[in-house]
Amino acid sequence: MDPKAMMKLSYGLFVLTAKTGEKINGCITNTAIQVTTEPNQIAFAVNKANLTHDMVKESGRFVISIISEKAEFSLFKHFGFQSGRNVDKFADFDSYKLTESGIPYITVGINAYLEGEVVSASDLGTHTLFVCKVTDMEVLTEDASATYAYYHANIKPKPQEVKKTEEGKVIWRCTICGYEYEGDPIPDDFICPWCKHPASDFERVVL
Ligand code: FE
Repeated sequence: MDPKAMMKLSYGLFVLTAKTGEKINGCITNTAIQVTTEPNQIAFAVNKANLTHDMVKESGRFVISIISEKAEFSLFKHFGFQSGRNVDKFADFDSYKLTESGIPYITVGINAYLEGEVVSASDLGTHTLFVCKVTDMEVLTEDASATYAYYHANIKPKPQEVKKTEEGKVIWRCTICGYEYEGDPIPDDFICPWCKHPASDFERVVL
């Protein structure tokens, strides 16, 4: 059995948003699919650790904004790498509008949104699988939808390659004066011979 077979499944990427009382919040999910056309129903799974999970469960309503290939990494960072339990994700974010029911949809880096009501919720352990009826939807742009594979190949920042000397040595540069030390790692007790700052003020030179 080759577990890498799971990676051959394709996924889209979405911002799932919800509203309870005056609170609005959203998170990134990669599991949303249309499951029936008559009636028009979609399904998505959300990790229970996400605040948005609790808000969809409580309100029974949601919006899914479909992320396009034009989306920037900052969108993923904003909705994916911090929790609505600690920060108000919409306090310093203005690329959104509200549907008639007051749930936000994203307006930059997405190509469409779907709004709906939960029909059923299945407890899957770490996640809940919601099956939902679509009640409203709009197309915003004709940009292609981003897949999870596209995100990894084109949106996620690539690790920076460390620059090396012709002899293959890593170069550390003093951020204070520019002195360069060759070798890796730089010794903890190294003192810059030019400006006398410690090794902690050096960083690897990247390409
Ligand atoms: Fe220095």
